[in-house]
Amino acid sequence: MIYNQILVRFGDLTLKGKNQKVFLKTLYRLVKEKMEGLAVDIEFQHDRIFIHLNNEDHNKVLEHLNLISGISSCSLVVKCSDDINDIKETALKLMKEVVTKEVTFKVSTKRADKNYPIHSLDLTKMVSGYVLANNQMLKVDVHNPEVELHIEVRGGACYLFNTNIRLMGGYPVGVAGKGLLMLSGGIDSPVAGYLAMKQGVEIECIHFESTPLTSIESAQKVVDLVKKMAKYAPGNKINVHFVPFKELHMALLDNVPESYNITIMRRMMYRIATKLAIEKGCLAIINGESVGQVASQTLGSINTINSVTNFPILRPLCTYDKVDIINISRKIDCFDLSIKPFEDCCTVYVPKAPATAPKKEKAELFEKAFDYNTLVSEAVKNVNSITISQDSDLDLSMLGLEVRDVLKELKNA
Ligand code: ATP
Ligand code: MG
Repeated sequence: MIYNQILVRFGDLTLKGKNQKVFLKTLYRLVKEKMEGLAVDIEFQHDRIFIHLNNEDHNKVLEHLNLISGISSCSLVVKCSDDINDIKETALKLMKEVVTKEVTFKVSTKRADKNYPIHSLDLTKMVSGYVLANNQMLKVDVHNPEVELHIEVRGGACYLFNTNIRLMGGYPVGVAGKGLLMLSGGIDSPVAGYLAMKQGVEIECIHFESTPLTSIESAQKVVDLVKKMAKYAPGNKINVHFVPFKELHMALLDNVPESYNITIMRRMMYRIATKLAIEKGCLAIINGESVGQVASQTLGSINTINSVTNFPILRPLCTYDKVDIINISRKIDCFDLSIKPFEDCCTVYVPKAPATAPKKEKAELFEKAFDYNTLVSEAVKNVNSITISQDSDLDLSMLGLEVRDVLKELKNA
């Protein structure tokens, strides 16, 4: 391909006033990090970034650009000198490569360099005249062209492009502070984590594991999902906190009427997550709840569950359709992992008829049957934390051990 650069745009980052500096600094760091290993050079400007391809495959570079939150779109660009003959020849070459059948076409010119001797309109006429005369497949349509050739003259050079590719959008991950993602092994929570990162929130993850009530593979699934999500995180790594949940899980199975099991289990999760979030300096909890999806996610259930905390809970998927969630899950390469059939603590001992409108007062009454405060504190105290990078080879399936033992062994190793 003829392209030798990629022009990257920031979107509404430019509206951020005094915070712009922090945004740009974070973004520059992210871009450098995610471009590592590619043969490209990066040129940062105050309102855009140019990636010099140095013959690197542009599709590969685009894949890496899609890991960066805070950049809104990009164009594949041919840079040439601002000599008019050079511009004409380059435009002709580009159109030869791009156009393979009869199409309508238009040239749009921007002259950032006001000292450039040829005015925009004249430049448009000169270039389009030359290209049209030499490529019979093009016909002019200034209103609704199939191909639009953009020409920008700036800084003694000329940039030609015909694409506008949407990128991740949002804000550079980290600028919005940190959140604690409740990560199960399902489809929803990794998507919620991705959307939070896209919006600028750096994440740590909390996973409630009930081994050996649940299999070690279900915890390994969480590790594998975090590896996928780490591609989007600063430093390509994410901290994960495994909460030993078996004791609480068993206590509530023993003491709580079946129809309230899930309600109370989730109240316990929120209590633990709140404590851990505060301990880790997180400003919000994030989860994959979507209104109406299951009994614990009716508005009635959410009220009763949420009433144990006044910490902010972000639910990026609250209004999402499952189909849309699955599309994002596929895009971030989590779907095939998420649908692997290992049970987690929400899927073992699922009550036959869970309450869809559980009452707060009833939940409080049932909770009086056991000393959950001590169990909550113990769970928080015994959290096993580990940092997982995108290329981690962490394998939890060391024979016969519960997750908590495996993680302790790894720590001591
Ligand atoms: P998912 O597909 O993410 O598992 P779900 O549709 O199965 O979600 P639930 O099991 O009711 O829904 O859980 C709702 C949310 O609660 C999850 O999206 C996740 O954020 C959190 N959650 C559930 N189980 C766990 C767990 N074992 N550890 C951490 N968070 C969990
Ligand atoms: Mg689940």
